[in-house]
Amino acid sequence: MGLKTKQQYLDSLRAMKPTVYMFGERVDNVVDNPRLRAGIEATGATYELAELEEYRSLIVTQSTLINEPINRYTQPPKSIEDLVARVKINRVMGNRVGTCFQRCTGLDCLSALSIVTYDIDKKYGTEYNARFIEFLKHVQKNDLTCNAGVTDVKGDRSLGPAEQEDKDMYLHVVERRKDGIVVRGAKAHQTGSLSSHETIVLPTRALRKGDEDYALSFAIPMDTPGLIHVVGRSSLDTRELDGCDRGNARYSKYCPTIIFDDVFVPWNRVFMCGEVEFAVDMVNRFSAFHRQSHGGCKAGKIDCMVGAALVMMDYNGTDKASHLKNKIIDMIHRAETLYGCSLAASYEGKQQSSGNYFIDPVLANASKLHEGKEMSEAGRLLADIAGGFVADLPSDRDLSNPEIGALLKKYLKGRTDIPVENRIKMFRFVEKLVMESADTISDIHGGGSPEAHRITIFRESNVKAKKEAAKRLAGIE
Ligand code: SF4
Repeated sequence: MGLKTKQQYLDSLRAMKPTVYMFGERVDNVVDNPRLRAGIEATGATYELAELEEYRSLIVTQSTLINEPINRYTQPPKSIEDLVARVKINRVMGNRVGTCFQRCTGLDCLSALSIVTYDIDKKYGTEYNARFIEFLKHVQKNDLTCNAGVTDVKGDRSLGPAEQEDKDMYLHVVERRKDGIVVRGAKAHQTGSLSSHETIVLPTRALRKGDEDYALSFAIPMDTPGLIHVVGRSSLDTRELDGCDRGNARYSKYCPTIIFDDVFVPWNRVFMCGEVEFAVDMVNRFSAFHRQSHGGCKAGKIDCMVGAALVMMDYNGTDKASHLKNKIIDMIHRAETLYGCSLAASYEGKQQSSGNYFIDPVLANASKLHEGKEMSEAGRLLADIAGGFVADLPSDRDLSNPEIGALLKKYLKGRTDIPVENRIKMFRFVEKLVMESADTISDIHGGGSPEAHRITIFRESNVKAKKEAAKRLAGIE
């Protein structure tokens, strides 16, 4: 097949039967649950755009593996062009849905595995890369969405995985069988797990001798027995369920915690098992790819924020205010800086032993570090430009109340030639862009915490060369 339509994507999710809990209750119909559907719609846009002539050349590429056209979200980078396309499509998608569309985490796992499984095999003569290639063919042929099962719950942060009192704080093997392994643990912040067909598990941190049971990578379908998705709360999460005050009428983000309650994984889906020294490489490659991905999607989100700010200025009658225009410029330069950094990380990418490409990790991490601070600054500027109703606009239900609706509409009007409903909708959209926690907190912690970005920048930068240059210029032997 190679490419699914959006309808085929929805049908394929409908055919799955994952175990899901939300607000203390079991959810049997994931696709038609309004809260989850808003997230599924965001991922669905990656299928929808691939069908449109306008975006096809950007999103669709040819697979050398299955010799068919495929969606780029299933293509680990095989060239600089592929690395650049990752950032460009993310900007288009971020701008299209105004929130997280959830599909890049899986691509970032595929990209890391395409490099590291080859390196493990080279050292140990294992067959992880061949298994991974078979899995990748399956993903490409069926145009699957994968998510990243990376972040363990970690327990006591001062202790390593094997030192924890409760050994399940990091996902680990509890049984090795002839036909596969049984694993137990939990992965947190599982962006879009129910919009995905498969979860790809990677280790969450560097590991050492004694941690062999935790040095794990594998992929399994989202409805594998023993997998339990518990959907996390987010600051505006009941808006979709209530059917009002949504802000972004179609798209949203949700992040479950996934519990692996003694889950069986067949050997043909295991891509690492026990090779502790490769855990750090696996997580570093994934993180660097994901930090680069953010440079595209978040630039696209700032594009939405700039658009919302300009429209609010029109609606409020402040479009000529030069101090607000300066704030718009401050927002645009933030988007372009993090986008530029991620593009630069792509152009400076290098081919690896497996033949696949890896981005420049210093530039990718610089982009992500910049995002952590500057997305919230862009949000602050947007709230400043839009006005105080971002905080406390009356509900849609009050606006349609026969007793007070007309009065509210009279007093919520901005410019008289602009329908008050449009101003209200735009305030709601701004609220969503600025205050929806599932998406805004990912600006800080997505792909690892800011300190992890800083450590990587220092570790990967050639500081020795910088010192030598300083000494040479100062005339020091
Ligand atoms: Fe993709 Fe992460 Fe951006 Fe979501 S936040 S769109 S998963 S890069």
